[in-house]
Amino acid sequence: MSKTHEEVWKSCLEVIRDNVSIQSYKTWFEPIKAIKLKDNVLTIQVPSQFFYEWLEEHYITLLKKTIKKELGAEGKLEYSIIMENNFNSSKPPYAIKVPTSNSKDVRNAAVAMPLDIGSKTIRNPFIIPGLKKVVVDSQLNPNYSFETFVEGESNRLARSAGFAVANKPGGTAFNPLLIYGGVGLGKTHLSHSIGIEIKKNHPSKTVLFVGSEKFTQQFIESVRNNNQNDFVHFYQMIDVLIIDDVQFFSGKEKTQDVFFHIFNHLHQTGKQIVLTSDKPPVEMQGMEQRLLSRFKWGLSADLQAPSLETRIKILEMKMYQEGIELPKEVTEYLAYSITTNIRELEGALISLIAQSSLNKKSITLELAKNMIDKFVKNTAREVSIDYIQKVVCDYFELPIELLKSKTRKREVVQARQIAMFFSKKMTKASLASIGAQCGGKDHATVLHACKTVNNLLDTDKRFRGYIADLEKKIAIQ
Ligand code: ADP
Ligand code: MG
Repeated sequence: MSKTHEEVWKSCLEVIRDNVSIQSYKTWFEPIKAIKLKDNVLTIQVPSQFFYEWLEEHYITLLKKTIKKELGAEGKLEYSIIMENNFNSSKPPYAIKVPTSNSKDVRNAAVAMPLDIGSKTIRNPFIIPGLKKVVVDSQLNPNYSFETFVEGESNRLARSAGFAVANKPGGTAFNPLLIYGGVGLGKTHLSHSIGIEIKKNHPSKTVLFVGSEKFTQQFIESVRNNNQNDFVHFYQMIDVLIIDDVQFFSGKEKTQDVFFHIFNHLHQTGKQIVLTSDKPPVEMQGMEQRLLSRFKWGLSADLQAPSLETRIKILEMKMYQEGIELPKEVTEYLAYSITTNIRELEGALISLIAQSSLNKKSITLELAKNMIDKFVKNTAREVSIDYIQKVVCDYFELPIELLKSKTRKREVVQARQIAMFFSKKMTKASLASIGAQCGGKDHATVLHACKTVNNLLDTDKRFRGYIADLEKKIAIQ
């Protein structure tokens, strides 16, 4: 007996779950319902056009693979999109500025939307056949350009080194250029930017971006097929070789060995090498010494966690790219809440858009707070001192710089004391560190501030009102 649509979709979901993050799974796949299976065509119902477009743009390959796996090569997927009640008057709750270039007008089309599998197979090892000069598909993602890479203190060195390399590949002291930094801080993005910029400035150069795991796989494959030489020759003719996440070479001696030879050849012939890693060379375990010492020949530049200002700019950039607008307080809230991983920051933004399109609710600060609670991993999250300061300053209409300064102006002193009071109450920060962040005061000053606020709470009704208001604004829920 053949499977029902529900069973097929259930099996698909199991595969999908293993291939996307929990957050993405909850956001994009849980709300989907399978509604029909006929002639090998599975129809799934998605909550909105935005969903459909997002799935098509981001998960088409995964969906395609999964469907083929479940239904065989003939298997197809159709979307059924839940219509907005009234198209003419009801705008989606988020404002779409830029229609996605290739989006079809789903509203006028039949409800079912065939999955457009713009088949883009990635060749291995990247050669486009049929041309005299060997042309290599660079494997660069055009979205990861310098234009979309927001500059900030946290990435200034790496970015400008990358830029220098892009203008003169192989012709600077930055060879290899090693970009290192924690998860989600932009290593992959920046290394693509360099490749894209080189292609722009030097179209004839052969640029190749490859992940270290793919490189390893290709190498193993070449050994198995007994054409290891082809593998090495292929890599030795590249002008700009970008290898992402070289830390994965750790412990893989044979791969390191072959990479060592490729590296030497490229370096000697003035070709540019760009590497990324999640740690600096000194901390890379399981890496051959001769390779490590070569990593240090050029420049190692790190990417640090972005400042608040940069985080806000990055969110604004992503919103611009997706063609959406959010209230400023929401963007600020996200930027205050997620501080150490830009990928998570983006994930939160996208989930928020999805939530709003799912519930047909507009994106408010409240929705953002709820969403962050549900999705952001670290459940024991606490408000940050930064955020408290911001809310207090907004409330009293003071510039935050004043609160962080040493000024003793009366109205600033009181706001600062209140910020200290809430920081003590709502974060785990020590008195000393609260003081340091609020105008460079010491722990005794913070203690005194807390006492003063408590006294006023007992005696001053209006003040009590302020504090109650503020507490509501600061609280996560
Ligand atoms: P990593 O490779 O370090 O783990 P990625 O390069 O994949 O991180 O970056 C994670 C996400 O954050 C990507 O979507 C990327 O576009 C975005 N991102 C990181 N840094 C910046 C930046 N400076 N400006 C804009 N987007 C950024
Ligand atoms: Mg990466």
